[in-house]
Amino acid sequence: MRIFISADIEGIAGVMRPEQCAPGHAEHQLARGLMEQEVNAAIDGAFAAGATEVVVADSHAQMTNLRAEQIDSRARLVQGKPRGLSMVEGLQQQRFDGMMFIGFHSAAGEAGVLAHTINGRAFWRIEVNGRVMGESDLYATVAAEYGTPLWLVSGDDCLQRWIGEHYPAVDYVAVKRAISHTCAESLSPQAAQQAIRTAAEQAVRRADRQPVSLLTAPYQLRLQASKPVLADLFSLIPGVTRLDAVTVGYQADAMATLIGLLSAFSYLASTQN
Ligand SMILES: [Zn+2]
Repeated sequence: MRIFISADIEGIAGVMRPEQCAPGHAEHQLARGLMEQEVNAAIDGAFAAGATEVVVADSHAQMTNLRAEQIDSRARLVQGKPRGLSMVEGLQQQRFDGMMFIGFHSAAGEAGVLAHTINGRAFWRIEVNGRVMGESDLYATVAAEYGTPLWLVSGDDCLQRWIGEHYPAVDYVAVKRAISHTCAESLSPQAAQQAIRTAAEQAVRRADRQPVSLLTAPYQLRLQASKPVLADLFSLIPGVTRLDAVTVGYQADAMATLIGLLSAFSYLASTQN
């Protein structure tokens, strides 16, 4: 039984401010500890239910949030970037039975604590085949292409409603209630970790759910940038079409291709900060 975990920081209990998510900031030093503990709770739950391998993809910012020495030694850790499958890099290397998203958040343009998609400074809204795409949606879709089902997600109550509506078979642990973009009422870290451990154990014990994708290929990307200069830059990539001052389009046969393109867009955008 192989389990893949992708870990972000905005949806961790006790995290609700941008400085907590900014590597190098003193507040990030504390927040990464909370992230490590929620990841360890998921790893522990998975092994308690019979997992034989767990791979964790550190998936926020430079993707070096988790301190390797703090992570349960039974798991393997994917860290650093660039990497082709971004938040689920490593998933393509072998067959995984199930996947968990820990510390995830709502899509750009939606309500929720620190809601964004991939790069909050660059992307205002991302749609594929006419549907708004958050990170959960993009990476659940690419995992489905590799035959891996999403079993469990944790984050705030806004993402909980989204997952419940679009992926009703997926389990969810709500660790906080969103009050505004940068305000939340959170469970204690300890309570959140206990809930995640229990849910991870139950999800792996069930081990009965198949991959679910909202979309079928080909994938038509429609991306609204946060300012026109970014759409100018994105349009330099062959195959990208300009739809209006801030909007670009692209068509791909595989979600993995769009994931790579979005990473390239995000790197391009970093030249304009
Ligand atoms: Zn993040």
